[in-house]
Amino acid sequence: MLITLEELQLHRISVSKTYPAGALDYRGAEFRQVGDLKLEAVAELVGVEIRVRGHLGTVVECACDRCLGAVVIPVESDLDLFYRPMREIAREEEIEIAEDELEVAFYPEEGLELADVVSEQVILSMPMKVVCRPDCRGLCPACGTNRNLEPCNCSKQTSETRGSSPFSSLLGS
Ligand SMILES: [Zn+2]
Ligand SMILES: [Zn+2]
Repeated sequence: MLITLEELQLHRISVSKTYPAGALDYRGAEFRQVGDLKLEAVAELVGVEIRVRGHLGTVVECACDRCLGAVVIPVESDLDLFYRPMREIAREEEIEIAEDELEVAFYPEEGLELADVVSEQVILSMPMKVVCRPDCRGLCPACGTNRNLEPCNCSKQTSETRGSSPFSSLLGS
């Protein structure tokens, strides 16, 4: 859905939209949407900027950082975003951009594509580190066994040979 300046100049736009799994392009991100994404938003013009406010919710699945098992994460995100016209960039570069403005995004002349706004917000809401559970034991670095499922024989050796290493406490037993 393209939000155009022409329409925004007439009235604000209220959006209530559902994007099913697979409908949005997350540009190679390491997760996939596994449930509907529901968006409620209002777009309006504030000066030359498009302001998008609202809320989105969905469910994504990604791999645990330690054991690579699937982790399902609910994503709930409040939006309050400002998009500046692309043609402003050239002028903007001559002005020293204030620190709090570094996050300002831009929209092309034809308008703001809502699907891009939504997929970007989901990407930004993903946690930096994902673990399937706080005490996930991860994969054995030596043999690759998933230590949540079964202990492996080399884990003992590994911790013994690295007994003096500063990382030994991180390797578990
Ligand atoms: Zn895990
Ligand atoms: Zn092992």
